[in-house]
Amino acid sequence: MEIIKNPEELQKRALEIRAQGKTIALVPTMGYFHNGHLSLMQTARPKADVLICSLFVNPTQFGPNEDLESYPHDLDRDAALAEKNGVDILFAPDPAKMYHENHSTWVSVPDLTQNLCGASRPIHFRGVATVVTKLFMLAQPNVAVFGQKDWQQLAMIKRMVRDLDIPIDIVSQPIVREESGLALSSRNVYLKEDELAQAPNIRKGLLRLKQQVDDGIVDCEVLKENLKEFYNSEIPLGTIDYIEIVHPDDITPLKKINGPALCAVAVKLISARLIDNILV
Ligand code: AMP
Repeated sequence: MEIIKNPEELQKRALEIRAQGKTIALVPTMGYFHNGHLSLMQTARPKADVLICSLFVNPTQFGPNEDLESYPHDLDRDAALAEKNGVDILFAPDPAKMYHENHSTWVSVPDLTQNLCGASRPIHFRGVATVVTKLFMLAQPNVAVFGQKDWQQLAMIKRMVRDLDIPIDIVSQPIVREESGLALSSRNVYLKEDELAQAPNIRKGLLRLKQQVDDGIVDCEVLKENLKEFYNSEIPLGTIDYIEIVHPDDITPLKKINGPALCAVAVKLISARLIDNILV
């Protein structure tokens, strides 16, 4: 496996690969790999001749009081895992190389990013859309794989690719979980024992909500209120950031469930803010 740190070098390599008639798959990540990341690599591997994985903790998607400085990292461990999972090129650029000092071009998809995570992280999605666009231009992929854990991000990228006629297939991968049900996240390493004991209740609450829908409750206010009560009693260390039920493609809030719906939640524990979702 090759490790490339320079964006220009990656683009040169990618253009050469494409000129040879070969295809490229891209898995964008912020590193500190867990089985969720590895599942994206495994899904991407057979989809192209060359698999590129990017590892970049993108500063423009972090707000001023977020965990950019403390975000976990271990390049050697990640490189070994990437190689084992079929990655051909690991792209791990320095932030100073990715953004010019006077960077001034932004990609944003306002309609899909006002609510859910966009409400408490106002610059987050603009940072993600911009860096993903840059990664697309640098890695020249035919296909890119994203996780359903970040559903709003996935919906935004699908819309961006459609709206801007970007010739890349966007493939999504289901959420990989601990046995307890807790969705894997690089940020789970922040959690203390008592938080880890309560965190799986995020998923339990979502499964309970799905059961209520299957039992015939379709009023979203009732469903959200029930989930709020469950979280308040079962996750006493947590503060609910949001509980929303939205259309899965355009992320607009629903009043009643009479078709595809996504329940998305964010809960702030003491050491980390966790997100999860379920299709109902
Ligand atoms: P991150 O490194 O957290 O920015 O995530 C990189 C990619 O991995 C994104 O497309 C995420 O949606 C995906 N991802 C993160 N956690 C999981 C998980 N538990 N299951 C599946 N995909 C995930």
